[in-house]
Amino acid sequence: MPLSTLGRMRSVCVLGATGSIGLQALEVVAANPELEICGLAGGSRVDELLAAATACRAPAIALADPAAAAVARERFGGRVESGPEGVLELVRSCGADIVLNGVVGAAGLEATLESFAAGADVALANKESLVAGGDLVIDAQRRSGRRLMPVDSEHSAIAQCLEGAPPETIAGLVITASGGPFRGRSLEQLTDATPAQALQHPTWRMGEKITIDSATLMNKGLELIEAHFLFDQPYPAIEIVVHPQSTVHGMVRFRDGALIAHLGHPDMRVPISWALTHPDRSATPARTLDMSQPWSLDFEPPDPESFRCLALARAAGERGGTAPAVLNAANEVAVAAFLDGAIRFPDIAAVVEQALERVPAEPASSLEQVRDADARARRAAGELTGAAA
Ligand code: NAD
Ligand code: MG
Repeated sequence: MPLSTLGRMRSVCVLGATGSIGLQALEVVAANPELEICGLAGGSRVDELLAAATACRAPAIALADPAAAAVARERFGGRVESGPEGVLELVRSCGADIVLNGVVGAAGLEATLESFAAGADVALANKESLVAGGDLVIDAQRRSGRRLMPVDSEHSAIAQCLEGAPPETIAGLVITASGGPFRGRSLEQLTDATPAQALQHPTWRMGEKITIDSATLMNKGLELIEAHFLFDQPYPAIEIVVHPQSTVHGMVRFRDGALIAHLGHPDMRVPISWALTHPDRSATPARTLDMSQPWSLDFEPPDPESFRCLALARAAGERGGTAPAVLNAANEVAVAAFLDGAIRFPDIAAVVEQALERVPAEPASSLEQVRDADARARRAAGELTGAAA
């Protein structure tokens, strides 16, 4: 049985190749003889990127940090692109069938747009692309005629539940949340939560930024906005439910009353492989669920008082325009400040809320408008985190 519908090698460019998603994507590619790497990009970790490039015989690499790119040029036999523009140049020139975007933060938006412009499919882990520039991304995808494959586990699950469903049969989407390390805590108990505590995610091992977003539940807020754009559903039709086992990844309600769910161990190699090999579902090393032992699943509504980021994200999504870009940029600054010890855990929501007040929503119909809102939100959040220190 061929693994690829192309009936030939599928070439993959991995952005964020030194990160949690990127490294797992490289594992998936290495295990699949019909996938090959045509380019790798990273931020500044030059040793890690060069090791990955050597292991997968990448012909070209890019580093967003120009100093790191200069070091790589001394040591790498293939082409080395430099700076944020170099990452886009790699996307334009590497001839990928599919670009896996595992960059963290809104820095990944332009690479998503550039991938469609270059005529590639996009396997999207970088949810901030859709949060900051949802309309731009969907527009670029439609114009390109290429596919946008979610990698985020909840969205991959929902896309799989939706396969073949006529739009009029869909009654709503359900995104599950583990609840993070602070599930069940009151707002007061969270006042002194430390970065080390917030980084102890109960079910997933991920990069630092998304792990903090999981502790505040901003990750679910970003995923709500991501789902709105990916599946063209209105916000009231998208529910968030806390499910501590992280076994059910996503669900779809249909108009006949059926609720279809996607289950599996928390293992990102499954959604990564689904996105890269669709519709063939190549085999992965992931374990499947054991039905020979008793087991159970729990669900509970999220606590809106302790986890205010969820409501802030829903309101920003409903407001639309540049509001989600502002929410996202302010959150990036606030998370970095929390990790640096400059603000307390509950201040993350406060900074985002105040940045949304200071930077009013405007239309987000061009990249310039989104970039401008992002920059203004970062300035506002920078002042706020400085003031809160
Ligand atoms: P990470 O911090 O582990 O890795 C981020 C990667 O991006 C690194 O390789 C870094 O060098 C690179 N990078 C940073 N800035 C860059 C830039 N300007 N240009 C190019 N590369 C740059 O993060 P992660 O946990 O792998 O998350 C990546 C994305 O995937 C995030 O958007 C996250 O929300 C999403 N995601 C991650 C997981 C997970 O399990 N880790 C699950 C779902 C979604
Ligand atoms: Mg997710």
